[in-house]
Amino acid sequence: MDYRPSEIADLLEVSVDTVYRSYIPAGCPHERDETGHIWILGTAFKAWAEEILAERKREKSIPMKPDEGWCLNCNMRVKMISPKIIYSARNREIIQSNCKKCDGKVNRARKRNG
Ligand SMILES: [Zn+2]
Repeated sequence: MDYRPSEIADLLEVSVDTVYRSYIPAGCPHERDETGHIWILGTAFKAWAEEILAERKREKSIPMKPDEGWCLNCNMRVKMISPKIIYSARNREIIQSNCKKCDGKVNRARKRNG
C-alpha cells in the first residue's frame, strides 16, 4: 500500500513540509506518478520510518550541545544561529533562534549561569 505525503505526516506527527523538505531528500522511499504526485511506498517506508524513529530516540538520549536546539518543524536537533534570550526567570531562561534548515523558530530552555 502506498501513502500520500500528508498521510505519512499524520503517522509520524510531523508537518507535511517536513515530509517534502526533509524525508524525501533524506531518502524516504517514494515514486512519482505521471501527474507528478508523490507516493510513499508503504512497505519500504515502514522499515525506513522505524530506522528514523529509532535514530530520533537515540538522538534524544544524547545531551544537546550548548549551541543546539530542538526544531519542532523539522522534529530534530539543529544548530542555533545567533540565539537570543527571550525570557529569563530566576534560574531558567528561554533562548530562541532560527533553524538552519527550515528557518522556523527553535526554542530552548536552559539553566541560567550564575
Ligand atoms: Zn527546522
